[in-house]
Amino acid sequence: MLFSNATLADGRVRDVRVDGETIAEVGTGLEADGEVVDAEGKRLLPGMIDAHVHFRQPGYSHKETWETGSKSAAAGGVTAVFDQPNTDPPTIDADGYAEKASLATASLVDYGINGGVTENWSPTELLEEPIAALGEVFLADSTGDMGIGRERFAEALDHATDAGVLVTVHAEDATRFDESATERDNADAWSAYRTAAAEIDAIERACETADEHGADIHIAHTSTPEGADIAREAGMTCEVTPHHLFLSRDDLEELGTFGRMNPPLRSETRREAMFERLVDGDIDIVATDHAPHTRAEKDASIWDAPSGVPGVETVLPLLLDEARKGRISYERLRDVTAANVADIFDLPDKGRIEAGNDADLVVVDPDDAEPIRGDNLNSKCEWTPFEGRDGVFPELTMVRGTVVYRDGEFADAVGHGQNVRA
Ligand SMILES: [Zn+2]
Repeated sequence: MLFSNATLADGRVRDVRVDGETIAEVGTGLEADGEVVDAEGKRLLPGMIDAHVHFRQPGYSHKETWETGSKSAAAGGVTAVFDQPNTDPPTIDADGYAEKASLATASLVDYGINGGVTENWSPTELLEEPIAALGEVFLADSTGDMGIGRERFAEALDHATDAGVLVTVHAEDATRFDESATERDNADAWSAYRTAAAEIDAIERACETADEHGADIHIAHTSTPEGADIAREAGMTCEVTPHHLFLSRDDLEELGTFGRMNPPLRSETRREAMFERLVDGDIDIVATDHAPHTRAEKDASIWDAPSGVPGVETVLPLLLDEARKGRISYERLRDVTAANVADIFDLPDKGRIEAGNDADLVVVDPDDAEPIRGDNLNSKCEWTPFEGRDGVFPELTMVRGTVVYRDGEFADAVGHGQNVRA
């Protein structure tokens, strides 16, 4: 397949020829030996690598499955995902890994499987499996029963460093939550409860511990500019979610419990500061923390509703709309969604449109914005916290040379996805 006259992220107009699973050539006046996709006036980008999704299988297939989650990814221009370990059973040992690996074979897009750490964790067993990263590691009982203390964290860092595996951290210190907020029952109480200080302190401590152990860590879903700055100054990498880039506490009156997630939405001032840091190069990547729940589950009190929002299908459309409006360059967009992710998570064949790389490609009409509608999305949960906002959706998504999505239709590509580490 040949993409002709496509505008790349850096503005160059080029032909891109795909042969088998890889990009064969990037140039001008290239000869086609198969279908030609006229990409004149279109942007051709490397597919997004979403380093943080919860596709819910095994254990919670009523919320999402590998098939629905990966369709949602493909329709949004995401060509690889890293799945988090808090499934049932959790991905913390060889059996848990094997069960998830067998389900993930349904994926349309490429994937990595992360391994988790608990207090009674067996490092050797898990680290012998081809996990994508260790984490997200929950520090100090921050979320559910997967939280670990500082000693266990240090031990995990040592084992992961020996195995050459990056550790990703969910940094919130539950001892810094504001208990007085529990007397309130509006959605904003969740943000008041899980304070910014709880994240900032936890990031600081995690970076200190990593530094002491000579380990590299990656801070998941950083929601505060202070936390992002600490991570950067410590030489660590961090990610920001689309909800922390595009939503703030000001949206909670409308979102209600559908805006509950961990870490929670922050002030409009902090949201703006996160977007600025992303544009300026002070935050490394965007990852969605795609965490679907059914409407019925979310329709509860703020203290009972589960935390998490979907995002894998809308992240690139939202960012492309910012690029359309000139608020972020296409080059920066490419870096934070693909190139930097490939660098941080050691995927040398992905993330860039270069000869020899995997043909993971997305074609978009850069001016074709439309309102995001939960009803039109492919995630099993069928709602979005970005309802009504403009998004620029891909026309075509290719994963390793196979078109998996085109003009609203999925190719018969269930199972096309491969484990990026296997
Ligand atoms: Zn998390």
